[in-house]
Amino acid sequence: TERTLSIIKPDATRRNLTGKINAKFEDAGLRIVAQKRIQLTKAQAGEFYKVHAERPFYDELCEFMASAPVVVQVLEGEGAIAKNREVMGATNPADAAEGTVRADFAESVGENSVHGSDAPDTAADEISFFFSGLELV
Ligand code: ATP
Ligand code: MG
Repeated sequence: TERTLSIIKPDATRRNLTGKINAKFEDAGLRIVAQKRIQLTKAQAGEFYKVHAERPFYDELCEFMASAPVVVQVLEGEGAIAKNREVMGATNPADAAEGTVRADFAESVGENSVHGSDAPDTAADEISFFFSGLELV
């Protein structure tokens, strides 16, 4: 079974939405196999999002990701990467399908409540960015 890296972002942890978001993942058949609450530094957020370094919103994104604790988690299931992105909804909540995390909870295209890996290679890299082998069963 496939695994993907998910992050519940600061706008969502601030509003105490972790449980409601996790319920959407579990209802979709995704299993939360690892999870922890951490506070990123801006430098760590910048390293995680370095593929976006040249984008105009990069600095704002890194500030935001370091602005409050995040919940990082590994989700497992058949087709977990695509399934998670389906449950998340479109990047911009205005475009997100009804019932998705971003439609229900996201505040803006930047403060959009969740992150999910977009491909098998990025999922593997992102899981190992946050979790050691000992933390994964
Ligand atoms: P994520 O990678 O966080 O799962 P995504 O794959 O839907 O989201 P990306 O294009 O990879 O979207 O952008 C990464 C993140 O950068 C977005 O989730 C959002 O927080 C932020 N972002 C993207 N576009 C904008 C924008 N136009 N203005 C502000 N922030 C943005
Ligand atoms: Mg992305």
